[in-house]
Amino acid sequence: MNEKQYDLVIIGAGVIGHSIAFRVKRLRPDLRVAVIGDPMNSLMASRAAAGMLAPFGECDRADGFFRFCRESLDKYPAFIDELVAVSGVPVFFSTAGSLMPSMFYEDCWEERKQFFREQNVPHEIWPPARVRDKAPHLSEKCGEVMWVGEAQVNNRQMHDALAAASVRLGVARLEANVSGFLKDAGSIGAAVTDGGEVRGRRFVLASGSWSTVLGDILGVRLPMKPIKGQMCRVQVEDSRLEYTVHGKLTYIAPWRGGHGFVIGSTMEDRGYDPAVESEVIDRLVKKAAEVLPCLAGAPLIEAWTGLRPAAEDEMPVMGKSQRYANLYYSTGHYRNGILQTPNQADYMASLLLGDGEEIAEFSPSRYSL
Ligand SMILES: Cc1cc2nc3c(=O)[nH]c(=O)nc-3n(C[C@H](O)[C@H](O)[C@H](O)COP(=O)(O)OP(=O)(O)OC[C@H]3O[C@@H](n4cnc5c(N)ncnc54)[C@H](O)[C@@H]3O)c2cc1C
Repeated sequence: MNEKQYDLVIIGAGVIGHSIAFRVKRLRPDLRVAVIGDPMNSLMASRAAAGMLAPFGECDRADGFFRFCRESLDKYPAFIDELVAVSGVPVFFSTAGSLMPSMFYEDCWEERKQFFREQNVPHEIWPPARVRDKAPHLSEKCGEVMWVGEAQVNNRQMHDALAAASVRLGVARLEANVSGFLKDAGSIGAAVTDGGEVRGRRFVLASGSWSTVLGDILGVRLPMKPIKGQMCRVQVEDSRLEYTVHGKLTYIAPWRGGHGFVIGSTMEDRGYDPAVESEVIDRLVKKAAEVLPCLAGAPLIEAWTGLRPAAEDEMPVMGKSQRYANLYYSTGHYRNGILQTPNQADYMASLLLGDGEEIAEFSPSRYSL
């Protein structure tokens, strides 16, 4: 592969690994940075996600995680501008917002409204007549609908842009599988790959659902597991819906530009199971068509499975290892890793470049890692 010594070796070529490389290189162009990604990985979450940027739909407590996700949403417009300018790759990003139909939230509709009021979340309650006007193709069954000031990105385009930006910034992109490490009791010297050794001064484990596998090799037990999601994308005209819709375990994400609508998703605790089941996909489409009837019978473009990296407490694991002096983690971003990408990149860069403080809820030290 190459015998170079890097200042920073990031293991994981999803949005998390690439965005750390991007931010570090933007701040410190002099550093030699490598991103290693297993080219055979077809289940990576970064390309499987729907790209919803939804801290308000996802969180119901004003805790540190909510604040982190909200900050990340705020950073998105500038992050996308910067990424597109550096990479030259267009990325669909929309701030049209999300719709939460009351039919999905009957048991907590008043609590949701109260939470949004208390947290100054930009939102509006649309009575059915307004829904007809703003989103005429939604089913009347949706009833009252809450519009929420969230956003939507095409995460595959964003991942492409991050990978292209890395190359332009001089990051070494190494397509290889890490199968071991050269290490002593307290530090790592090299990642061992099928293409040779990659030596580094510091390492970041950003390998999504496979972080546990690499953790095992390092002798650290990451309490994480993959949560499988099956999804599909159907061909429907852009004009049918401008907004992202979310309900409980049903969502519809417009990718626009003729790319159709992404329909999600299951949450399955089935290890590294790659199967896509046609009856599951049919059920997802059927449920989504209760919200947007034109989805019924729409041509299927593709169906897929991806794995969400979930820690036991469902919080990300970000920060410095206690066990190895030169190891950092950024993993466990679970259901909201696309949303967390810009803030996570800033946060990890601040820790790696030595001027940041760790956030206790996210610290690897909570698991003695
Ligand atoms: C179905 C689904 C829907 C989702 N929807 C959303 C959403 O709408 N909004 C949102 O914010 N988030 C969403 N998420 C969550 C989000 O996608 C993830 O949190 C995020 O992509 C995690 O990124 P990552 O880079 O850590 O992991 P991944 O994207 O999984 O990348 C892991 C990387 O590690 C590499 N790797 C693993 N093992 C090795 C090895 N041994 N050697 C070398 N490389 C290795 C892989 O090749 C890959 O490059 C969704 C996830 C899924 C699965």
